Amino acid sequence: MSKRDYYEVLGLEKSASKEEIKKAYRKLARKYHPDVNKDTDAPDKFKEAKEAYEVLSNEQKRAQYDQFGHAGPQQQGFGGGFGGFGGGDDFGDIFDMFFGGGGRRRDPNAPRQGNDLQYTMVLNFEEAIFGKETDISIPKEEDCSTCQGSGAKPGTKPETCQHCHGSGQLNVEQNTPFGRVVNKRVCHHCQGTGKEIKEKCPTCHGQGRVKKQKKIHIKIPAGIDDGQQIRVAGKGEAGVNGGPSGDLYVVVQVKRHEFYQREGDHIFCEMPITYSQAALGDEIEVPTVHGKVKLKIPAGTQNGKTFRLKGKGAPNVRGYGQGDQHVKIRVVTPTNLSERQKELLREFNEISGNDPMDEHEDSFFSRVKRAFKGE
Ligand SMILES: [Zn+2]
Ligand SMILES: [Zn+2]
Repeated sequence: MSKRDYYEVLGLEKSASKEEIKKAYRKLARKYHPDVNKDTDAPDKFKEAKEAYEVLSNEQKRAQYDQFGHAGPQQQGFGGGFGGFGGGDDFGDIFDMFFGGGGRRRDPNAPRQGNDLQYTMVLNFEEAIFGKETDISIPKEEDCSTCQGSGAKPGTKPETCQHCHGSGQLNVEQNTPFGRVVNKRVCHHCQGTGKEIKEKCPTCHGQGRVKKQKKIHIKIPAGIDDGQQIRVAGKGEAGVNGGPSGDLYVVVQVKRHEFYQREGDHIFCEMPITYSQAALGDEIEVPTVHGKVKLKIPAGTQNGKTFRLKGKGAPNVRGYGQGDQHVKIRVVTPTNLSERQKELLREFNEISGNDPMDEHEDSFFSRVKRAFKGE
């Protein structure tokens, strides 16, 4: 089934404001929430609206969706935008959603997806360009192996809670704008599990879950840039009650380099040359992340002139070619001249007539001169 456009799902124009998006979602959520609508297609309609809302209500995700649509970079495992973590709970509770808390009654025994995890990886400049494979160690919550997740001491079993008779819920009356509603509350004796553990597992103290350090092999693709993230599917925390695992998001931070700067796939740098190299021309060596490259400086090169070294930038992280290195020339004015050097420069000045404006009618200098004259 092809996905419907998120704006279409919420019945909105592309220019819809945040407030309009929220309003449209609330309207649909009221209409299709499985608590109030028993039609067979209501859960799907609700999920569709919720997904659309989650994307369009998040500025970063919305921008990405506007640019790439459903086939956005998210699907390839890249792209920004956090939030919406901790998945699992498909519907939430309509009372929580509109009346702020109270009456929460998610079934604690239902399968739930494990939490997503986020890990920040710091790379140096070259590692980001060439990619990296490495093992990381992260603390993950998993089922306790002593009790297989039951929380009960080995050899014993959790028993049915006497207060809720195993349902995990107690009835509570609540006043809402819709009138008086009998709502169900989580049984506080068993925290909604419907079970009571008489003798707790010594390893997890009855939680059924333990934190463990887990090693995960991570492949950082060549060309990744600061702030981008990689999704490692299924490497988040283990699911609860047989639910699927969450995902691991590796967020990349790239350290600054003292010589190179990066913008997208392109690398920028500044090369100092002397006044005579600029005037007479020369061949210089420029460092690139791919090794040294020879660059011809033509005679008469001005300060600030930029040369492009094709293909000497970063590879595109999605495989679309290779960036360039841009070399900006900085002509360094000599200081601490010897007497002999000064003498030669004075002589040079005399020959040049000491007036650069005579030589080039439309030079920078002549424009300055005209400005002084008020022309
Ligand atoms: Zn245990
Ligand atoms: Zn109970």
